[in-house]
Amino acid sequence: MAVINFGSINIDHVYQVDHFVQPGETLASSDYQCLLGGKGANQSIALARAGTDVRHVGKIHESDSSFKQTMIRDGINCKHVQCTETPSGHAIIQVTPSAENAIVLFGGANQEMTSKDIMQALDSVKSSDWVLTQNETSSIDQVLIQAKENGLKVAFNPAPMTESVKHLPHECIDLLIVNEVEAEEISGLNDLDKIEAYFRQDWPHAEVLITLGKAGVRMLKKDRTINVAAFEVDAVDTTAAGDTFIGYFLSAYSDHAGSEAALERGCAASALAVTKAGAAQSIPSKEEVDRFLAKQ
Ligand code: ADP
Repeated sequence: MAVINFGSINIDHVYQVDHFVQPGETLASSDYQCLLGGKGANQSIALARAGTDVRHVGKIHESDSSFKQTMIRDGINCKHVQCTETPSGHAIIQVTPSAENAIVLFGGANQEMTSKDIMQALDSVKSSDWVLTQNETSSIDQVLIQAKENGLKVAFNPAPMTESVKHLPHECIDLLIVNEVEAEEISGLNDLDKIEAYFRQDWPHAEVLITLGKAGVRMLKKDRTINVAAFEVDAVDTTAAGDTFIGYFLSAYSDHAGSEAALERGCAASALAVTKAGAAQSIPSKEEVDRFLAKQ
């Protein structure tokens, strides 16, 4: 069993600044880091650290091939990560002393995923494999359609949320994973029970997982609703909490763990992630998650 993740690979340029740069201002930054990022890459890292055979499908500029090596070292199969002439997707992130951020995002090579790339990546799949995708790459409709045509299970995380998500072929999605804001935007509602009623009525074909930050997670299965509380931890940075949750949940769920057990693993891994600063570097290893769960 493998997870084929059609996902973004971003280069995050993180600048520590005193305040956000103002119109016409030139501002010196006191610290700079260049890190692997993007929801797609983060979710592949979480899946790999959880022990899943994850195959990432994506594109970056040829001068950034060291980031592909970083993903390979983390255990991700990158046979379908192509190096192109288009600039890599990247984010220019300003971070202030109060930990607020302001971000300019450029899609770049992430927006060059084509139908042909998708077909090639799905060429040698098994019917027990899962496809995962987010909303940071092009041709998402084709990913959903071709994955279903190949008889695969399809998980979709519509982040970051855009209007276009509402026009995707929803009937191809088996598992929708959203945070509270995305659930509100898709349903147009802001009460959790009403949102659940909306999904049960309009998405009867899909299981829906709504992550609720420190309130935990709610999963809508065909025949029941499961609520799992978050673990109590001292949170310092919630970046990549959702990506960590998705990777660890899907790793267990696609490996036939029961829903409750998979949700608990997702919550444990993401609780650990929020106790550390950063994105990919905060995603825990399988051993850390096992130790954390054993202590509970
Ligand atoms: P996203 O990062 O996509 O907005 P959430 O904020 O809903 O997603 O977080 C995803 C999961 O991470 C939650 O379901 C929860 O299990 C865990 N989590 C998030 N914030 C905390 C927190 N402060 N304490 C413990 N767990 C948390």
